[in-house]
Amino acid sequence: MSVQYDLSCKIIPQEGRLRVRGTAIISVPETKFLFVLNRGLKWKNVSQRIADEILPVNLQRTDERKVPGFYNGELWGLEATVEKDGIKQEPIVIDFEYGGQIHPPKKGSKKPTMGYIKSDFVELACYSAWYPVPLTMTAYMKFHITLEGPPNWTWEANGENSSSEVFDKTSVWTWNQERQVNDITLIGMPLRDAHIDPESFFWGTKRMVSSQKMFDKHIHKIRGMLENWLGPRGTEAPLRFVITPRQLGGAYNRAGMVVVGGGYPTESNLHNAVLQAMSHEICHDWFCKASPLTYDNWVDEALAEFCSIYIIDDYVNDDFLSSRITKTNERLEKAGDLPAIRNLVREQDESYAAFYFRGFLLLNDVAESVGITKFRKTIGEFARICTQNESITSESFLDLIQKKLGKESRSRMEKWLDYSGEGVPEL
Ligand SMILES: [Zn+2]
Repeated sequence: MSVQYDLSCKIIPQEGRLRVRGTAIISVPETKFLFVLNRGLKWKNVSQRIADEILPVNLQRTDERKVPGFYNGELWGLEATVEKDGIKQEPIVIDFEYGGQIHPPKKGSKKPTMGYIKSDFVELACYSAWYPVPLTMTAYMKFHITLEGPPNWTWEANGENSSSEVFDKTSVWTWNQERQVNDITLIGMPLRDAHIDPESFFWGTKRMVSSQKMFDKHIHKIRGMLENWLGPRGTEAPLRFVITPRQLGGAYNRAGMVVVGGGYPTESNLHNAVLQAMSHEICHDWFCKASPLTYDNWVDEALAEFCSIYIIDDYVNDDFLSSRITKTNERLEKAGDLPAIRNLVREQDESYAAFYFRGFLLLNDVAESVGITKFRKTIGEFARICTQNESITSESFLDLIQKKLGKESRSRMEKWLDYSGEGVPEL
């Protein structure tokens, strides 16, 4: 399923408010769609368009499925007309209007506040469900956004900025994203606070970015090394690190735009670890098409760990790899009894240790069993396949492993994927 969004947004940072008028063009003719929307946002008009006709739709709050923990929003079921006058409606076109404020996660939910509209910074992504986020996340989206904001603000989105015009009291920005992506992310701040330097990978307020610029020269080299190994990145958008004032919740990558809450630590003893964390996010440009709603997500996170750790080991020429293997084993041990990777999805707490730690050790184990060079070459081939396909699965990864490295490597991986318990399996 894919959804094409056309959104006209008005953001008033001083009031913390958002208003959106938009259209969603949904590729699959189904009777019912499930969307997540932030509970501070109220629907106004929602209807279906068939040719020139406007049809009512049935839009209801529902709890028929659990909203994954990383979304801060309520579930809505929308029923549309699939067939009219004997003609099947494909695609389904929904017009909608909604507005309000972005509410933080409920108290006691332990969720970090990932999205907000403040007078001096705006950060909006799928986590705060600022737009109707499709629940079936095998869904990919293309989008066109027109944003009306204050005249003296600057903005970034995970699409191609096609225009920005400044008027007396407002400015209007537009973006297009023609590739299939898994989110619509919008970040903004007053121009007077902004660090603007086309030579730098960093974007954010001057105050937050100034300490980060020391990483620019390293990122430049590491990105080149990753491209040598994995092929061209899966996006044409320039790589940039957007530093936001958020203190919790970490980083996420949206088509080359890595959004980092609070920035990276700059202490010298953490230098290599920080470079690896940055590289991990860059690696998602290749592997991000594994769905976060199924266990397939392990492929994305484990490969991002594996490739970033190996590339930093190449780069710093130290014993980085062996120290990371030791550390990862310790951290996995500490996480205790864990379900099998195959029985986990991203929103479960245990998935972090299973996908990142056990996942990395799994890949490293197979690499050592067939020879590191040979394994790295296969990962390079898989990365190229990932950027050329709309989605990737654990199965497609295993198929390639079997084809290139043999049945034994595949069954070795399967043993790891099915292993539940503490630490790593004994093979
Ligand atoms: Zn990651």
